[in-house]
Amino acid sequence: MLIGPGFQTYATPTQASSERPSTTQQQDVYAERKDLFHKVSALTGIPWYYLAAVDQYERTLSIAKPKKRPPREGLIGIYFTELEWVGLLNPDTEDRNVKSIAFFEGYGRDGSGDGKADLSNDLDVLFSMASHILAYGNKDDDLRIALWEHYQNTRSVERIEQFAKIYATYNTLNLNDHAFPVPVRSSYSFRSTWGAGRSWGGYRIHEGTDIFAGYGTPVRSTCYGIIEVKGWNPYGGWRIGLRDTQNVYHYYAHLQGFDKNIKEGDVLKPGQVIGWVGSSGYGKPGTSGKFPPHLHYGVYRDNGWTEWSFDPYPLLKRWERSERKASRK
Ligand SMILES: [Zn+2]
Repeated sequence: MLIGPGFQTYATPTQASSERPSTTQQQDVYAERKDLFHKVSALTGIPWYYLAAVDQYERTLSIAKPKKRPPREGLIGIYFTELEWVGLLNPDTEDRNVKSIAFFEGYGRDGSGDGKADLSNDLDVLFSMASHILAYGNKDDDLRIALWEHYQNTRSVERIEQFAKIYATYNTLNLNDHAFPVPVRSSYSFRSTWGAGRSWGGYRIHEGTDIFAGYGTPVRSTCYGIIEVKGWNPYGGWRIGLRDTQNVYHYYAHLQGFDKNIKEGDVLKPGQVIGWVGSSGYGKPGTSGKFPPHLHYGVYRDNGWTEWSFDPYPLLKRWERSERKASRK
């Protein structure tokens, strides 16, 4: 049924998922990228998963705003404009000289050891960002301050810390597996209802997919993610929100209850049980039974400043299909 998780949302057309299938090629990219993080971690003392989190956060911003931030070629997703790289007052806008860039206070550094600060070199770009955030030191609090100074946005700092915790937990960048939110062998039904008008609590559009299932059907994490929100909301009832490393927020509402072992800040893997299908919501805490039991599942993308919902239906169909296929093997 109808719900918004509390932040501003925009009903935009379906956003394509940035997720790519796990191919051998993709595995190689993850391995090479992780190797770069370890190299720069050894140089700076910044934990690899922190560097990975900054890189991935920057990549999600580029995916969300491709016109403003053309995704760069290569393994690293950190974005600098030419001017940021060479220094705002640098007359040579394509400067690669470490000394003159430093003079004009550009971000550019040489991480690869060839004596040049090259914006097209992955190691240079990663090392430059690492050097920049190292200005305050390499302890957690220092990094937090540096990130705040860089982004001027507490939300960016929060995202990077969430990503870092996920990467640190699983010690890998390969976190693309997903699960369908209820067991595929259980009895359930759903159809595409994104954008339908609803009226409880004022007119809002339906930002998600309703999966109808019996009370007590297990509700599972669809992704590798971290619990951002857990508790009661007048619309969503007992609801929970997970953030994944694609900067997508997965919102589950109307639960009967939560698995007692999970709390905010916990990192979860796909298929891990988070609660049970119920009919909570549309009133004060504990309100239940105002509609048939179902899971409301919504997905929201963060572009750094706002979040907007997109239709989870195609993702749900894909995850359902791949789990059914895997369970037949
Ligand atoms: Zn719904």
